[in-house]
Amino acid sequence: MLSPAMITHFVWMEGTMVPAAEATVPFLTSGFHYGIGVFEGIRAYSTARGPAVFRLRDHLERLHGSCHILGFKELPYSVDQLMTATVETVAKNGFDECYIRPFVWLGDGGWNLTLDSGKPKLGIGVWQQSVYLGDEARSRGLRACVSPFLRHHPAAMMTKAKVSGNYVNSVMAKTDAQRGGFDEAILLDPDGYLTECTGANLFLVRGGRIVTPSTEAILEGITRTTVMTLARELGLEVVETRASRDHLYVSDEVFFCGTAAEVLGVTEIDHRKIGTGQVGPVTQKLQAAYREVVHGKNPKHDDWLTYVTP
Ligand code: PMP
Repeated sequence: MLSPAMITHFVWMEGTMVPAAEATVPFLTSGFHYGIGVFEGIRAYSTARGPAVFRLRDHLERLHGSCHILGFKELPYSVDQLMTATVETVAKNGFDECYIRPFVWLGDGGWNLTLDSGKPKLGIGVWQQSVYLGDEARSRGLRACVSPFLRHHPAAMMTKAKVSGNYVNSVMAKTDAQRGGFDEAILLDPDGYLTECTGANLFLVRGGRIVTPSTEAILEGITRTTVMTLARELGLEVVETRASRDHLYVSDEVFFCGTAAEVLGVTEIDHRKIGTGQVGPVTQKLQAAYREVVHGKNPKHDDWLTYVTP
């Protein structure tokens, strides 16, 4: 059942466009029971040339990468085929802006806990959705905590793959954070260094320099590389390195970024004010640059957009 805030009309299921209510998966599906699925989170934005999907090829290449990391031997659709299917799904639903969710799950077998006794199945859903943490979060900023739940050790779960089962960790951390009165949780790795938050990557700004955790135990976010590119184009220095919890506390600014979150400032962490306690100037610059790019207002990065109507 979709949440009432989500509006969708048609879902692409294994090559066929079906009404959303008919896009169902049987209860006895092993991938659903064991969390064996991989997915993407992509967005289409309105532009002067109609809706455009942001960094579609990069997302679908990461989907293929996630399947490969998990161990699916072959995905029955190429990146190019999935690009076409995604664009068709957005067009069929008639949305100007939407969230896009391709999902590959283990179906037809797989009950003996091996991938090879089942088959990967693929669907693409799209929906209109209100923003991740509310529109005002962009100007107001977020209150976050460092979670008592650690991010996966990369030898235990594959953090570079967007595997459904990985998100149990995110759900527990975020539920715990919100029950404690915070908006988001920041997770440490098993050595105690910063990783990311539950569904977005993490950046610190200190002395004019932007720092982001290196990629050992995080999802290599597509927004993360977008923001790094845009920051460098604005003349800002960006460094990928290990950073610790106390680095957060003494930062001038902290922000999160991800497809759903876009760029969101963090004004308080663990009951400590970050910088001035307001969304800072570097975060604001990057928020503006990101919005320009996704809405097709930065010609330099037009190649990041796939227009739905050619
Ligand atoms: N980390 C995690 C755990 C995520 O779920 C996401 C969202 N996909 C991100 C980072 C940000 O990735 P992206 O910018 O590609 O959306």
